[in-house]
Amino acid sequence: MIPITTVQFGIEEEQRVLEVIRSGLIAQGPVVAEFEQRFAELCGTKHAIAVNNGTTALIAALQVLNLQPGDEVITSPFTFVATLNAIIEAGATAVFADIRDNDFNIDPTKVEALITERTRVIAPVHLYGQTADMNPLVEIANKHNLVLLEDTAQSHAARYHGKAAGSFGIGTFSFYATKNITTGEGGMITTNDDKIADSLRVLRNQGMRARYEYESVGNNYRLTDLQAALALPQLDRYSQTIKTRQENAAKLISGLRGVPGIKLPAQLPDREHVWHQFTVLITDETTITRDEFVVALREYGVGCGVYYPKVVFDYDSYRSHPLVRASAVPVATSVALQAVSLPVHAHLTDENIAEIVTTVRTVLGATS
Ligand SMILES: *Cc1c(COP(=O)(O)O)cnc(C)c1O
Repeated sequence: MIPITTVQFGIEEEQRVLEVIRSGLIAQGPVVAEFEQRFAELCGTKHAIAVNNGTTALIAALQVLNLQPGDEVITSPFTFVATLNAIIEAGATAVFADIRDNDFNIDPTKVEALITERTRVIAPVHLYGQTADMNPLVEIANKHNLVLLEDTAQSHAARYHGKAAGSFGIGTFSFYATKNITTGEGGMITTNDDKIADSLRVLRNQGMRARYEYESVGNNYRLTDLQAALALPQLDRYSQTIKTRQENAAKLISGLRGVPGIKLPAQLPDREHVWHQFTVLITDETTITRDEFVVALREYGVGCGVYYPKVVFDYDSYRSHPLVRASAVPVATSVALQAVSLPVHAHLTDENIAEIVTTVRTVLGATS
């Protein structure tokens, strides 16, 4: 089976983790600080604040904004459930702007109509490794005095007009096991705002400024040095990882171009895609459904994933939730029925890629 994702560490990770174990300082300490500094450099931001996962990164970023009940956050309906859970956890109301089917991200032209007196935050999700169309979003946010919160869990160091994802507003990142950089569980928040950075550092440590000096209600959102040690060698290699993912994506695109029934993903002009996922659409041009395609691919030994089978609020727990404002999102609804991700990770061999291409062509009945 060619897996959709795989975790492989080298001797460098083993050494860094071993150093932490031997140091006896295994909670948040100097290695987390080093990781934060390196990550801020990667994103070109003034600050990076490490937390224990990508969901808490979103929650903490919203909590330091002091949202009031009834305040609204406009986000994408086509995202992992963490984005929505964080908005609800922060006590805000989630409102959804439909997506575009070329980048799978929030459509800026759908955002302005949703802005009310209560809107406080626009929260685009940079899905699959490519940023949302940021210039118009920045413009709307500035015009209406709104905070931009970028869910960058899937797009570490993706770029838009040369500027890194997570550096336009407040950025939140995940280092879960499947992400482009992983610490098993882990998260980061990036910002250029000194006050927000300061509040986040206090919040993640029980609201404590100095020992037993409690400044705000807080929590324990801390990352550990053991986890941060895993990330550092991955950062050393990350530009190569991105390059390999980009090469793999290019090989898949050239192998699958022109196959009827499949719409291929693209890196849009002025963006740099980091290919967290290689997501295709199974269109009406073929008689086979997306779900049948997934079953067939797995029978041939090609792992694939459906991210995501439905729009995020289309579940019993959210549909009539008082903090969720469900709305018609036709593009996201249709994409959710057609999207499937193929392996694109950095450990694929050329033989793997050839096998993926041949299998997809066979399943879709394309002559090779
Ligand atoms: C993974 C992910 C998260 C949550 O990150 P965790 O570290 O798993 O909590 C949030 N948003 C998106 C889009 C993600 O893919």
